Amino acid sequence: MNQHTLRQPCTFRGTGLHTGCDVTMQLIPAPAGHGIVFERTDRGGVRIPAMAACVGSTQRSTSLVRGGVEVVTVEHLLSACAGMGVDNLLVTLDAPEVPILDGSAASYVAAFLEAGLQEQEAPRREIQLPGPFEYAFGDSLIRFEPADCYTLAVEIDFHSQVIGTQTACFTEGEDYASQIAPCRTFCFLQEVEFLRKNNLIKGGSLDNALVIDEPRGYLNDTPLHFPNECARHKLLDLCGDLALVGARLKARVTAVKPGHSVNTAAVRALMAHFKL
Ligand SMILES: [Zn+2]
Repeated sequence: MNQHTLRQPCTFRGTGLHTGCDVTMQLIPAPAGHGIVFERTDRGGVRIPAMAACVGSTQRSTSLVRGGVEVVTVEHLLSACAGMGVDNLLVTLDAPEVPILDGSAASYVAAFLEAGLQEQEAPRREIQLPGPFEYAFGDSLIRFEPADCYTLAVEIDFHSQVIGTQTACFTEGEDYASQIAPCRTFCFLQEVEFLRKNNLIKGGSLDNALVIDEPRGYLNDTPLHFPNECARHKLLDLCGDLALVGARLKARVTAVKPGHSVNTAAVRALMAHFKL
């Protein structure tokens, strides 16, 4: 499989979920071997590659940092790129955070399909794992096993009567656009005040997140896209965080109670263990 970029640029305007900042973000086609690279046009054009070595804060989202300049909440865009097979893009932003849009990756997928993908004359970088690897933190676990194709399996349990225990699975070649991309981020009403006090979710609303009022139910009027939409969103996040390896893993990845901290720590541990 060769690398791909977009046939033409696309632009998104929106608000950052955590910073609440308005942002204009452009996705610009980039040459083979370029990878996904963010550029802060409001900070002298500092460029930050989407690589595990650049991971900064992982509190409720994944941020990348270089030279003190940060890009926050990169995971949904990176997930869409990995899920749709977009390898190379320059992503310019005039604010610190990627727009949350509707809390899913659906808008990216729609834009990719409209712009079209351009095949490039270089093979996609793939990594065949020499053996299994496991990373555990608290009661979270990320397990990597060598496999012929990229498979993600997720299990979540927030001790919630509304969500219950959920699982989700996705294998490369399945329809990311319809099965994973539309699944929205979520939080519990009971933690909203805590998150706001910690300077998070300033841009959060019922338009960009499922909000769960435990034990009553979802506050949103819109119906769930899937009964296990929360697990599917966690898989969407995992897919974005794993893209920070910078190559396609030929692996089956099983994640129990994944989150941005454990996901990105597992990626760094995996890369250090196998010297990737
Ligand atoms: Zn997310």
